[in-house]
Amino acid sequence: MQDELQDIGKKGEVIVSDDRFDAIIVGAGLAGSTAALTLAKAGMEVLVIERGNWAGAKNVSGGRLYGHALEKILPGFAEEAPIERKITKERISLLSETAGTTIEYADESFRKPETASYSVLRSKFDKWLAEKAEAEGAMFVTGIHADEMIVKDGKVCGVKCGEEEMEADVVILADGVNSPLAQSLGMKKELAQAETAVGVKEVIGLEEKVIRDRFGLTENEGCAWMMAGYPSDGGIGGMCLYTNKESLSLALVLTTSYIGQSELSVPQLFERAKAHPVVAPLIEGGKLLEYSAHLVTEGGYNMIPTLYKDGVLLAGDAANMVINIAYTVRGMDFAIESGRLAAETVIKAKEKGDFSASTLSAYKQMLDNSFVLRDMQFHAKAPKLMEHKEIFTKYPQMAQEIFSEMYTIDGNPRRHLLKFAKPALKKAGGIFKLARIGLDANKAI
Ligand SMILES: Cc1cc2nc3c(=O)[nH]c(=O)nc-3n(C[C@H](O)[C@H](O)[C@H](O)COP(=O)(O)OP(=O)(O)OC[C@H]3O[C@@H](n4cnc5c(N)ncnc54)[C@H](O)[C@@H]3O)c2cc1C
Repeated sequence: MQDELQDIGKKGEVIVSDDRFDAIIVGAGLAGSTAALTLAKAGMEVLVIERGNWAGAKNVSGGRLYGHALEKILPGFAEEAPIERKITKERISLLSETAGTTIEYADESFRKPETASYSVLRSKFDKWLAEKAEAEGAMFVTGIHADEMIVKDGKVCGVKCGEEEMEADVVILADGVNSPLAQSLGMKKELAQAETAVGVKEVIGLEEKVIRDRFGLTENEGCAWMMAGYPSDGGIGGMCLYTNKESLSLALVLTTSYIGQSELSVPQLFERAKAHPVVAPLIEGGKLLEYSAHLVTEGGYNMIPTLYKDGVLLAGDAANMVINIAYTVRGMDFAIESGRLAAETVIKAKEKGDFSASTLSAYKQMLDNSFVLRDMQFHAKAPKLMEHKEIFTKYPQMAQEIFSEMYTIDGNPRRHLLKFAKPALKKAGGIFKLARIGLDANKAI
């Protein structure tokens, strides 16, 4: 069967599949492969359809995986998975045109498996996870695009790939951010410009020792670094950098509605940010290994679509499960947990022999009680916080003015902090604006 399905991908021939699966999963990202692993472990017959040539071939992330969700399914996974580095240092910077103000936070507790986060390269990591699911008996077919849903009497009962129809009791859509398949079922709206950002990412090769020395790391430690201000040219967004073993992942994420407002294109903005005096020395001498671009949803909890219907469930990015809360971007742990919970729902539905919306509604209840929707709801006001443009425009400049005066010793008369901090704050919008942003930040993070 697998050979036949792979042949469809290679030659575009029509082969009618007589086999019926317990579940079909569209997309072998983290959500899809986790669902496949969970279902296969429970002895279910599961088919995963992936359009890329291998799981992970088309997947993009800034690069940090919070490990807790996968730890529940594969305890100690980091011992064998192709993780890059354990993140032990967090840095956040406000960049003006010529300066950077950075806070660093390092914590020993970040080393514990239950709280650890890891830099990962998706093309390796997703492949590994898919192989884990395959080892449990899940069937993966790659290089095949699922084009259409098969719906009979209002119930989803399979997918169409070209002329080939494949049927199952239930379909889990884990096909990522756009999910035209979920849109075709009326479960999800077409993404609006104001609700999305575009991420461009480079993986830049550097020697292992250079990375350690440049970022002050020991052998397996890593650094996650968010930078706001100059990189996004005043638009909502920022740059993130993650240290891998022998490379850096550097990404610029910019709200889609800003594109066109800047004189520079997104790739030009990215080049400009790479030349910033704080960034340039970090990547100096590096070799471009990979370039990718991807959409990311920005609306958070308010964008959660319909999560289940008769015979179908949405997981991961297909269900818009991403949050961007300025100091971190999260989507991978949501994808893993929602994939697991979608599979748990299907296992229970199989026991009942009922895949109706009423039975599948247990998925939403489980998500409501899980960290996925709890955390997303907790951070629901993050998009509103990001609307304060001062964070990306005036505050990096304000920080520069204050710290520049503190640290400039040139023989000129010294001034007390308030003498120079007050005018800098006034220029950035004043104390009331700062208090407003502080209050909104308190509600959002
Ligand atoms: C620039 C950027 C930075 C990010 N940084 C982070 C971060 O640091 N940490 C974090 O946790 N999250 C981050 N995220 C979010 C994170 O990448 C996503 O939330 C996560 O990848 C979602 O996983 P998924 O499995 O749901 O979807 P995906 O990883 O997108 O997987 C979907 C899969 O479906 C396949 N597919 C799609 N359509 C079809 C079809 N019709 N037929 C067959 N296959 C199909 C695709 O090829 C793909 O393999 C970032 C996202 C971006 C864009």
